Amino acid sequence: MASICRANPPSCVARLLMAVLLLATAAQSEAHSGAAPSSDTSSSAAATAAARTGALMALADRYRIASPSDKLRLQADLLAAAQARYKFLARELEEDPRAAIGALLPASARVRLPSILAGYLEQDVRVDGTVQVLHEDREDGSRFHYFLESAQGRYSLHFSARAPDHLSTGAKVHVTGVQIDNMLALGASTDIQQVTAAPTANTFGAQRTIVLLVNFADNPSQPYTVNDAQAAVFGTTSDFFRENSYGQTWLTGTVFGWFTIPLSSATCDYSSIASYAQSAATAAGIDLGTYAHKVYAFPQNACGWWGLSSVGGNPSESWINGSFELAVLAHELGHGQGLWHSHSLDCGTSAIIGSNCATGEYGDIIDMMGSPQVGHYNAFQKERLGWLNYGVSPPITTAVADGTYTIESFEPSGTGPKALKVLKSTDPTTGQQTWYYVESRQAIGFDAFLTDPIIGVQNVTTGVLIHMGSESSGNSALLLDMTPSTPVYYLWYDAALVAGQTFTDPDTGLTITTAWVNSTGAGVTVKLGTSSKTSIPNVVVSTNQSSYRRGQTAYITVSVKSASGLPVARAPVSFTVVKSNGTTASGSATTTSKGTATYKFGLTKQDPVGTYKADAKATVNGKSLTAETTFVVQ
Ligand SMILES: [Zn+2]
Repeated sequence: MASICRANPPSCVARLLMAVLLLATAAQSEAHSGAAPSSDTSSSAAATAAARTGALMALADRYRIASPSDKLRLQADLLAAAQARYKFLARELEEDPRAAIGALLPASARVRLPSILAGYLEQDVRVDGTVQVLHEDREDGSRFHYFLESAQGRYSLHFSARAPDHLSTGAKVHVTGVQIDNMLALGASTDIQQVTAAPTANTFGAQRTIVLLVNFADNPSQPYTVNDAQAAVFGTTSDFFRENSYGQTWLTGTVFGWFTIPLSSATCDYSSIASYAQSAATAAGIDLGTYAHKVYAFPQNACGWWGLSSVGGNPSESWINGSFELAVLAHELGHGQGLWHSHSLDCGTSAIIGSNCATGEYGDIIDMMGSPQVGHYNAFQKERLGWLNYGVSPPITTAVADGTYTIESFEPSGTGPKALKVLKSTDPTTGQQTWYYVESRQAIGFDAFLTDPIIGVQNVTTGVLIHMGSESSGNSALLLDMTPSTPVYYLWYDAALVAGQTFTDPDTGLTITTAWVNSTGAGVTVKLGTSSKTSIPNVVVSTNQSSYRRGQTAYITVSVKSASGLPVARAPVSFTVVKSNGTTASGSATTTSKGTATYKFGLTKQDPVGTYKADAKATVNGKSLTAETTFVVQ
């Protein structure tokens, strides 16, 4: 590190941070996928798991044909092998799920094993429940934990492939998995199916927040005062929310504590910290009732992370380990509002988007949901929160034709567009779209660090930032590097497209050129490409759930897109529902500015059960376009 500092002039601090981040992100992309690092460790774990399974099967074969006296002798070995394997698989499910899942026995093999092993074998299960997504912000990499709350109990979920980042805390799901202890192993992406999406978080107005300060039986220290904590949450962090939301969202509530809880600081048991903190508060007569966010804060303990939080949730829950300040609070409460990280996409020094790209988990380092500066959340994230392009929030302009578009500086309140969206592509199967987001950042308010010479941001205020984000996942915000030829340690501090420079999408040929940038905004010239090259379904119809009970309401939504993939507003749509007994119901609607229209189909208690078909017919430029979907009534 020291030699890097001597060799290159500008900001040493920035480069050191960069180096730490780059080291961290290499591990993070893998950890984030929920799958094992593709290293020797992983292959050796897979080999050990497979060997233990193989040894158990061989021993069971010997047992099956053994004489009664040999059977007695072999029984102890068999039980010991099954127990050791079971314990190993449970540990590896946590550490290296792909290795463990690869060594699971199918049901057809398990039935051949002696019944004395029943308590030490994995079981196939189908469970319905509610998802909780927790996220650790560690120095050595980010890590996600998924849990399922069900009538049968609480399970941790472990995925052999990429974790399902379309799910947020509160989503109702159906899981088909293999159970080991209180863990469920999920091998295929279809093993977890969303029945109902998580309720949309309320991201506007006063966010009622309770902060419980706790310390430990072996460390009853109080590293900061209640007043300090009050100022950090309801002063600075609340101000951060207010500025980011253009005056629409802030934090209210109270800090309570300190409470000493009967836990050691040498363990990392966050769920016990939460439950002891709540019990202590209740015992002190505090009503934990109506808070949207719960924060537990404690002196530095054995947990390897600074912050941990649910992604979404009502209430959301966040844990702060050690230093209690804006940098961790605005990040964890961002998760609590349902945000994932702001990533970077590094495609080396040549093409900006190509096949050899790596995602940096915390790569967007000038965004609070990246690291380490307390920058504004980017336009994709703010649009998810409704702080842009929703209701009375400032708009985002969608580029619908070639031309030069003006955007306002991103930070101050205003009624003009705060960002520009340009369509990159449309998924031919789902109709979901991926967009470029263009924003003009200035050193205003919490973004003041953009011109701080010590931090060493290079070109952000003299250009525009370009992010990519997809409708398919809230976890898809990527900052793109507009100066890929500069050295790696500048990568995300000089990511902007400066005036006069052009970015070209290699797939469609669309170009984005920064025409001008000043202290109040930027002009951005767009030449739309051939995104219509991709096969675009013009009408897609979907329901808010895949199955309903009688008496519920089905929300049937149609999305209408033009040939170039842009939303079509004010298109008349007629809906027809064909029930399982052949009778029909119909309705009509007109698409909104987002190109969607919804038909609320109320099911009566007398409606038949079975599969229903929903048809939508939209009229665009005098032409009829149709689509259909099905849903089940139980
Ligand atoms: Zn995080």
